[in-house]
Amino acid sequence: MLELEGVETFYGTIQALFGMSLRCEEGQVTTLIGRNGMGKTTTVGSVLGTLTSRSGEIRFDGEVINGRPAYQVAQLGIGLVPEGRQIFPNLSVRENLIATAANYAGGNDPWTLGKVLDFFPRLEERLANQGSQLSGGEQQMLAIGRALMLNPRLLILDEATEGLAPLIRQEIWRRLEQLKQSGLTILLIDKNIDELADIADRHFIIEKGKVAWEGNSDALTGDDELKARYLGI
Ligand code: ATP
Repeated sequence: MLELEGVETFYGTIQALFGMSLRCEEGQVTTLIGRNGMGKTTTVGSVLGTLTSRSGEIRFDGEVINGRPAYQVAQLGIGLVPEGRQIFPNLSVRENLIATAANYAGGNDPWTLGKVLDFFPRLEERLANQGSQLSGGEQQMLAIGRALMLNPRLLILDEATEGLAPLIRQEIWRRLEQLKQSGLTILLIDKNIDELADIADRHFIIEKGKVAWEGNSDALTGDDELKARYLGI
């Protein structure tokens, strides 16, 4: 569904991606893992169109999307749960959910406010609260709910459970598993290798702006040298 091939992205004169390549297969969970500063968020920005790649190709459903503005990429069906959640602090939970809602792909069983609130009952209790009044876990549920309200075909989570308490993390992993079971294609960035290994079909390790290794969960969890070298675990 999503393919990156030889992508190079710069911040001004500073190069951050050096020929990044990645594939997300339809209906699968793919991870992008690596130490801080290796280029995960830059990869996401390059896909979403918030950063412009200078060379290489990014394809979604076979269509080249490099250089398209972010709103068009979102309309093609790529939803983002951004690093730091980026909840609108002065809007209520309800307003955060409906502000950008759409069903561009025209799916016949789209996510609605009611469905998102059933999926995250905690958000229903907080519906009238402002974004700024939510806990980190509630904000992450809201960020996921907001992305689902765009009815994406590919959901990207940049730091899915970063900074969350263990019980909330478990809840987020359970929900992501449910989304996978529903057939949604997911690209996950996170540091919790064990949880990633449980849910994901394929992993890509990024090192200095390009992929250093790819493989399945057994290969990842069984290779201590790999984890030490590229993930510092
Ligand atoms: P983290 O886990 O810390 O978010 P990351 O793997 O997502 O790390 P990126 O944020 O993509 O890494 O950063 C990749 C490289 O690009 C780093 O060397 C970083 O210093 C550099 N970089 C990121 N943002 C900018 C910016 N706005 N201006 C200049 N360089 C940047």
